[in-house]
Amino acid sequence: MSLIASSNQMAKVNMLEQSPAVDGQFSQVVESADWQQVTRLHHAKTEQNVRQALSKSKLDVEDFAALISPAAEPFLLEMVAKSEQLTLQRFGNALSLFAPLYLSNTCANECTYCGFSMSNAMKRLTLNETQIGQEVAAIKSKGFDHLLLVTGETKRVSMPYFERMIPLIKPHFSQLSMEVQPLETDEYRRLKGIGLDGVLVYQETYRRKTYLEHHLRGNKSNFNYRLDAPDRIGQAGIHKIGLGVLLGLEDWRTDSVMMAHHLRHLQKRYWRSRFSVAFPRIRPCKGGIIPKSVISDRQLVQLIAAWRLFDRDLEMSLSTRESPEFRHHAVRMGFTTMSAESKTQPGGYADDSQEALEQFEISDERSVADISAMIRSQGRGVVWKDWDPALS
Ligand code: SF4
Repeated sequence: MSLIASSNQMAKVNMLEQSPAVDGQFSQVVESADWQQVTRLHHAKTEQNVRQALSKSKLDVEDFAALISPAAEPFLLEMVAKSEQLTLQRFGNALSLFAPLYLSNTCANECTYCGFSMSNAMKRLTLNETQIGQEVAAIKSKGFDHLLLVTGETKRVSMPYFERMIPLIKPHFSQLSMEVQPLETDEYRRLKGIGLDGVLVYQETYRRKTYLEHHLRGNKSNFNYRLDAPDRIGQAGIHKIGLGVLLGLEDWRTDSVMMAHHLRHLQKRYWRSRFSVAFPRIRPCKGGIIPKSVISDRQLVQLIAAWRLFDRDLEMSLSTRESPEFRHHAVRMGFTTMSAESKTQPGGYADDSQEALEQFEISDERSVADISAMIRSQGRGVVWKDWDPALS
């Protein structure tokens, strides 16, 4: 049984071509979902449901719900072993490293958990061409070939800025992704045309009520516009689409089940795209909140393994929000990419003395060399590039 009444819409989708002419964006699916029902469903999963999920090679969302349920906790070691094995089979022995480049900390939104929120009195900075050149040089000197561009969300840092800066940055990196405000389909298409390979839009939480409690002002308070951004990214033919929830805002299991539905919804429509997921947990920041639903390290491990079992082709990314100890153990669990030596303030790679500009405190502050050594000590290799646009 599907959790979501409008899943019939999904069956209507023509899977033979990636077409913009598809009906039923994900906001329509969420409209029909009953949050309490989704929550009750994963709570009701039994040991038998977990065993069934573990025995399957193709898992559906119901199986995923079983694997993240309390009933799956005794199966953690088996899940982690299977997750590692599937990751090795599909992605080989290497992890790719990437760096986030914060272009701007200016933001016209008020998000309760973020240091860049407009009401936070802090120095705002948007990098110009010269400053971007300095950042690019500093990042390249560490060996990175995969860059994630990050900005706050404001009209002042939107399409005209992106269209000016991407051509300066792209020649230096084989893979360029961005995590910025949601855009229109045609805007994504234009950015693809000048070298953008991937877009990450984290929904933060799939529960509208909770979303509105944490996004108090600005365009980000438009729940549906953000929710449908991955559909627009897919319609624009962007190579990689990234999803994520901010673990801690809501019940992490229910949000994860909703994200699993979102992933399947997108995969059926935009089958040429690759997909990635991330697992950010709320980190301390200036004026930040106390998480409503705390996910323990052990539960996070369970969640990571469940995602890998749910989808063998999924890219899974781990940021420096997590502690060195957790990242050390996480290397073997199912991740495909990791950030390293990240700076979350604009200009931070060329000059990291201005901590007051940063979005949140990172937890793993080790150098790229140390993180590479840690990955190798776990029997894994490091790659700087896992894909080239020429291969698409
Ligand atoms: S989470 Fe994003 S949109 Fe919200 S305040 Fe931070 S930078 Fe702005």
